[in-house]
Amino acid sequence: MKLLQDKNVIITGASRGIGMGIAKVFADHGANVAFTYSSSEAPALELEKELKAKGVNAKAYKSNAASFKEAEELVAKVLEDFGGRIDVLINNAGITKDNLLMRMSEADFDAVIDINLKSVFNMTKAVQRTLLKQRSGSIINMSSVVGVKGNAGQTNYAASKAGMIGFTKSVALELGSRNIRCNAIAPGFIETEMTDKLDEKTVQGWRDGIPLKRGGSTEDIANACLFFASDLSGYVTGQVLNVDGGMLT
Ligand code: NAP
Repeated sequence: MKLLQDKNVIITGASRGIGMGIAKVFADHGANVAFTYSSSEAPALELEKELKAKGVNAKAYKSNAASFKEAEELVAKVLEDFGGRIDVLINNAGITKDNLLMRMSEADFDAVIDINLKSVFNMTKAVQRTLLKQRSGSIINMSSVVGVKGNAGQTNYAASKAGMIGFTKSVALELGSRNIRCNAIAPGFIETEMTDKLDEKTVQGWRDGIPLKRGGSTEDIANACLFFASDLSGYVTGQVLNVDGGMLT
């Protein structure tokens, strides 16, 4: 069964990792996929080709998630290219710039807040009018287990991810009466380029602490997104789903 047949979806940061995993699973379910990248042009264009080969409409856009102006321009272009409708927005683009608070620079704090959190404001505001007119839409924000429980060495990242949860719940309250849902996913340890940067000892420590004894895959997160994007979750809004192998249990 195809759960997203002919739905138009925007995913930020899909040139690799979790975003790319979501794009592939969504295309398999019949969704047309507009997605962004900031610098990884070659893999983004490769993904665009791969998605089109699945028989859906797909397009890669270079767009800095931290820029309000670029978010507005992006949404205008997507509306033009995808027939004037947006059904799902996934705010997935994110970065880390880890350090102990003692050593963290103001620039690294600001960069993480701008790309991870302000981007969610930028994109949600940019699609809001379209969703209100349609009286339907699903917004999915990619938070993190770290936003729920905190993490030493990640004050900037944890603050951005916790901020996304407050934003998610507030948007759910503001837009619920117009049939627009907003939910967040809190992935645990998902094995992507972002986690490749960690040393092996840290990685093994994470795995040992997970009840399911493995890191998650991008498909694990994509499947949770599929639930929130589709009618399967038609009566669910303002929620945070931990997809973490039981890490927070
Ligand atoms: P990743 O492999 O590092 O990929 C990040 C994606 O975001 C890339 O497509 C990147 O595009 C894009 N991006 C970065 N800065 C951007 C900007 N300024 N504007 C637009 N796009 C930008 O990361 P990931 O592991 O897939 O993580 C995806 C999301 O899940 C993030 O929000 C992350 O915080 C969250 N998350 C990940 C984990 C995990 O274990 N991996 C756990 C919890 C939450 P370019 O390649 O062009 O830079």
